[in-house]
Amino acid sequence: MTRSATDVAESLAAVERRIAACGRDPRGVRIVAVTKGHGPEAVQAALAAGLRDIGENYADGLVAKAGSAPPASDVRWHYLGAVQRNKVARLAPFVAVWQTVDRADVAGAIARRSPGATALVQVNVAGVEGRNGCTWTDTPAVVDAARHAGLEVIGLMAVASPDPRAAEEQFGRLAALRSELGLRELSIGMSGDFELAVRAGSTIVRLGEVLFGARPAPRQVRR
Ligand SMILES: *Cc1c(COP(=O)(O)O)cnc(C)c1O
Repeated sequence: MTRSATDVAESLAAVERRIAACGRDPRGVRIVAVTKGHGPEAVQAALAAGLRDIGENYADGLVAKAGSAPPASDVRWHYLGAVQRNKVARLAPFVAVWQTVDRADVAGAIARRSPGATALVQVNVAGVEGRNGCTWTDTPAVVDAARHAGLEVIGLMAVASPDPRAAEEQFGRLAALRSELGLRELSIGMSGDFELAVRAGSTIVRLGEVLFGARPAPRQVRR
């Protein structure tokens, strides 16, 4: 069950205390509320709690929720899923930040629909095959290609390994690469590892469960 608006506001306050306890000013860490798996009431609860950045992994979920939310000017939608080129046209009217650019052709598809759009390059920091994100080695070239295509690349994004030691190492390495490339933003940290991420210098954390509670089981497909 999605938490009530009051509970989401309390969860947010607890997250901000935990960020402060890591020695970071919570105002320097943007919280993207990840509403995947929850209904439009999660978006309303996040907005009521004062959040403005909402993230979704699925094109259908983003388009449906953006349609039922207040005007786009009040909400910054972050797209967090793999970018399928055939979905870019549907997403483009709503997405403010494309967090998962990992190839030149994906960057090109986004730039054609949304010239100058804000983007992050996703790095497959765990190196697990089949995961979203470009390799460590390809990252500088993908950043260049995305810029060349006409996107405004503001930073790097990653999903770390579940093991905290591995995650810490990956976050540190990504923070260093971000600095080397002269980028401002570092989108790392989810419910299970956001404290490690903010200690490593995260500027954007993407939080679902810790704000909204466990995701309801995906609905069964009915015939
Ligand atoms: C689901 C998801 C999140 C949020 O995960 P939680 O563990 O619920 O905080 C963040 N980023 C991405 C890319 C996700 O897919």
